[in-house]
Amino acid sequence: MSHVFPRHTKSAPPMVARGQGVYLYDTNGKRYFDGSGGAAVSCLGHGDPDVTDAIKTQLDAVAFAHTGFFTSEPAETLADLLIEHAPEGLDRVYLVSGGSEAMEAALKLARQYFLEIGQPARHRVIARRQSYHGNTLGALATGGNMWRREPFAPLMIETTHISPCYAYRGQQEGESEWDYGQRVANELEAEINRLGPETVMAFVAEPVVGATAGAVPPVEGYFKRIREICDAHGVLLILDEVMCGMGRTGTLFACEQDGVVPDIAAIAKGLGAGYQPIGAMLCSRDIYAAIEDGSGFFQHGHTYLGHPVASAAALAVLKKLTQGGLADRARVMGARLQSALEAAFGQHPHIGDIRGRGLFRGLEIVEDRETKRPFAPERAVHKGLKKAAFEAGLICYPMGGTIDGRQGDHVLLAPPFILEDTHIDEIVAKLSTAFAKALPAS
Ligand code: PMP
Repeated sequence: MSHVFPRHTKSAPPMVARGQGVYLYDTNGKRYFDGSGGAAVSCLGHGDPDVTDAIKTQLDAVAFAHTGFFTSEPAETLADLLIEHAPEGLDRVYLVSGGSEAMEAALKLARQYFLEIGQPARHRVIARRQSYHGNTLGALATGGNMWRREPFAPLMIETTHISPCYAYRGQQEGESEWDYGQRVANELEAEINRLGPETVMAFVAEPVVGATAGAVPPVEGYFKRIREICDAHGVLLILDEVMCGMGRTGTLFACEQDGVVPDIAAIAKGLGAGYQPIGAMLCSRDIYAAIEDGSGFFQHGHTYLGHPVASAAALAVLKKLTQGGLADRARVMGARLQSALEAAFGQHPHIGDIRGRGLFRGLEIVEDRETKRPFAPERAVHKGLKKAAFEAGLICYPMGGTIDGRQGDHVLLAPPFILEDTHIDEIVAKLSTAFAKALPAS
């Protein structure tokens, strides 16, 4: 009997034995292609000696020293390198242990900022219906993933949700992509006005939506309009790049491709690439200055802030992403993956949309391609797909999406940036097997 939880399946899952490159192996010797890096984590693949060596070296020097007493060289160098490569304007880094912690820090920093500058009424958050920002209570409160929120609803901080930018579902007949983006962005302005701008603290969004929809990129112009609206009403823009950041979309920060700079950004997953648990919150010079000139310190903290070993791992990862050109590789290989997916499944009767950026790709599963009607939720198609793919030796990330209720299933792909062309063929072949097994014949 196992005392470990959670369990995602009734029967015990296989036990992982080792990882090498793009593959994981279980204790029975079965090999799995890690086509989603777990949940978009393992951007370098497994067993990267540069990262494991950096971890070992740091462990031999010092494993832990509390930030109440010390800073450390890996934490300082990591922060410097992050800021060197972050969009201009982001200036300070707060190192935490994962994505939810990064989002909690972002929300609390936003709140403290408004207290420092004498706008205490600003406490409300606006987010989007199709979103996930983490599972701790503050982050969960902002997310628009309704089934995750509902059981905990009385504990939530005040958040309202507007439409996502989800062209496949939302763009209307005869409407241009640009007009669609402006229309859904303008919902933010209407919501700010409805709530009263003096009460709104922040707008929170994932630049490319991950787990709740399957790699949905925004249309051109959407985030520029969002930035304008935030500026016009003194609302902070918090971008959650926990899943889509760190090169996943082909640039280190996904928002670089949308031409906007957030006031606060959250990153995690690819930052530690799975070698260590680490996340970070980055904020603008102005926000940091308001706090420094005000009460002087950010009223927040965790025991493992700036953990030296986690920082050393992330520093080694970041060097590979930036100096090693791996983020660029994600862009090139991502375009090839998209072409291969389109060639194989572009006419599939149950694949409605194939989309994404870089090595962050989603396939939306529908019952009817013409009407885009999803499968009935009771069929839990995404669960069948996950199982069939896993049996075929492919780890991918199928989920049931939610937008205004439930709009269907998708498969998320987020393979390691080191993948080769033959691996793209392997993903396509194994997905074909899974689709043949888990989707109806027509
Ligand atoms: N934000 C986004 C966009 C995420 O995808 C996730 C994790 N799936 C989180 C926040 C929370 O990160 P963590 O699980 O590391 O707490």
